[in-house]
Amino acid sequence: MQTRYDFIIIGTGAGGGTIAQKLAKAGKKILILERGTFLPREKENWSTTQVFLKNRYHTTEVWQDKDGKPLHPGTGYWVGGNTKVYGAALFRLRERDFEVLNHIGGISPAWPISYKDFEPYYTQAEILFNVHGKRGTDPTEPPSKSEYPFPAVSNEPRIQELFDGVTKLGHHPFPVPIGLNIDEKNMEDSKCIRCDTCDGYPCMVDAKADADVNCVRPIHHQDNVTLITNAHVTKLITGPNGREITAVEAKIAGGETTQFHGDIVIVSCGAINSAALLLRSTSAAHPNGLANSSDQVGRNFMFHQAGAILSVHATKHNPSRYQKTFAVNDFYFGEPGFDFPMGGIQLIGSFHTEMMRGDAPWMTPGIVLEEMAARAVPWWLTAEDLPAAENRVQWIEGQGIKLSYTPNNVEAFTRLMDRWTDVLKRVDGSHVIPHEAYFKKRIPLEGVGHQNGTCKFGTDPKSSVLNTDCRAHDVDNLYLVDGSFFCSSGAVNPSLTIIANALRVGDILLEKTK
Ligand SMILES: Cc1cc2nc3c(=O)[nH]c(=O)nc-3n(C[C@H](O)[C@H](O)[C@H](O)COP(=O)(O)OP(=O)(O)OC[C@H]3O[C@@H](n4cnc5c(N)ncnc54)[C@H](O)[C@@H]3O)c2cc1C
Ligand code: SF4
Repeated sequence: MQTRYDFIIIGTGAGGGTIAQKLAKAGKKILILERGTFLPREKENWSTTQVFLKNRYHTTEVWQDKDGKPLHPGTGYWVGGNTKVYGAALFRLRERDFEVLNHIGGISPAWPISYKDFEPYYTQAEILFNVHGKRGTDPTEPPSKSEYPFPAVSNEPRIQELFDGVTKLGHHPFPVPIGLNIDEKNMEDSKCIRCDTCDGYPCMVDAKADADVNCVRPIHHQDNVTLITNAHVTKLITGPNGREITAVEAKIAGGETTQFHGDIVIVSCGAINSAALLLRSTSAAHPNGLANSSDQVGRNFMFHQAGAILSVHATKHNPSRYQKTFAVNDFYFGEPGFDFPMGGIQLIGSFHTEMMRGDAPWMTPGIVLEEMAARAVPWWLTAEDLPAAENRVQWIEGQGIKLSYTPNNVEAFTRLMDRWTDVLKRVDGSHVIPHEAYFKKRIPLEGVGHQNGTCKFGTDPKSSVLNTDCRAHDVDNLYLVDGSFFCSSGAVNPSLTIIANALRVGDILLEKTK
């Protein structure tokens, strides 16, 4: 006899993992189909060479870019999705990010619901993902009813020195809201050991708040939960009128294709793979791809304009282990003389010599790189990219994913990079470049970590894929809860918004199925 589930959830990242735990805890009978396996806990988790140079935890799948050139995406398929390697910087979008914002490069459109609708879910998301922080320190932070669940993570001495220097210049640095299982008052018993291999690496001791550790593992042994790993969903099949998904087709462990049946199907494969799944699920009722009567599936792909600056001091060493501890949002909405949003700045968790190997001239001696790395402080800068119809995911039969992207709103990002370089030059009391060096690198299209926006939600079925409940306008039992629902990308890291939205949709579904 075939088993039928209340819910089939596809993917276990920030969105899928979160909604799975919500529905499982409410007693719903759920099937979770996850393309990957549990990420192995092994010494390589913390090897910079393995993680950054050999891409050990990335897929080997090859996509193509808009010119048909091969694209090796920096993404992985694991229980927990990309949260297994994320930096766990868990920011709320700003209140104004939900409204129309004029950028130097165009318009960032309004969302169909407001920050107020999200606020209670942001609070729940911060609890679920152990967020440490301090309210009232970030001048752009949106209103909230409660303090963070855990205190801010402290700065190590070199970072505190920079924090003080930035403050003296009149800026407003603040602790990065970060999802770690750390107890700084009792490090003997703390799960997190505050190491220098966090941001971009999996956590060997399971102390990073990710969707695997915080969401899937607490529920997957429950009687009402079935988790099948190595289950690559290949197609969603609808009944004759096209309004209902009747079967989910998946290849299990690369072998036979199996069909699964559930009342409601929740797709959460990440913004790119969710769009690809809908686009390849064609049928007579959905000839252009499932739920695509608007022709918006796959369009408006965004992934932020992001880049790193490495500041290397002439004499001061940076022995910090974990340094993703402060951020600056003073330029988020612009600055005097430039009345357009620019973006946000935050520290990167750590920096190692190996990370320079890919970018340094090949003859650079190892000792030079080591000396530079010992004095380097790495920064991550993010500016908003704007939704554009031609920036899109396509599914090419027989070939796979095509990701077309042309950067926009570039001036905001360039200005942010230049502005922060100016601040860094002044912060240690040295005004002259030769005493310090600044390296800037823009994240290329391969770096799809912040992917969002390929199935935007809205009130008009002609111009959006999902309604405000994140249900497909065209299909009654199809929901999407990964980053694909975004209407605009803001300039903060996306995960907390994905998690909060999955909790919101979870409530809607529990109400609907009570
Ligand atoms: C190096 C790095 C650092 C980052 N740092 C931060 C940070 O500090 N803060 C932050 O907010 N964000 C960060 N991000 C981004 C963050 O990881 C993503 O925003 C988040 O994981 C997206 O959640 P999601 O649910 O949309 O997709 P994902 O987390 O990617 O989950 C998608 C899931 O679907 C599965 N899947 C895909 N296709 C199929 C299929 N066909 N069948 C079955 N399963 C499938 C995948 O295996 C995966 O489990 C970072 C990302 C990277 C790569
Ligand atoms: S800093 Fe903490 S959470 Fe991050 S990898 Fe190290 S032990 Fe894990």
